[in-house]
Amino acid sequence: MGKALNLCNYDHDMLRKRGATYCENCSEELTRRHEMILNETERKEFEIVVRPLIKWLNDNCHPHVSVIADCSHAELLEGVNSFVTEDYLRD
Ligand SMILES: [Zn+2]
Repeated sequence: MGKALNLCNYDHDMLRKRGATYCENCSEELTRRHEMILNETERKEFEIVVRPLIKWLNDNCHPHVSVIADCSHAELLEGVNSFVTEDYLRD
């Protein structure tokens, strides 16, 4: 994800920590993050929300089914064939 160019000299992360929803200096909305560095609580929250999905996959699908989710949809995918090679990986 690209970080939007913002030349504001206010510390948006600090404003977020104080509960601000927008920057008084540049009017940028602060409710969405630009970088995803999770703290311990957020990592635990992530585990709590994905565990039921992983359980559902195990209860209802075969091992080559996966899910991709983003902010507006979740998609169930079935792998029908795979070929694995590391021949073209760059160091
Ligand atoms: Zn700002």
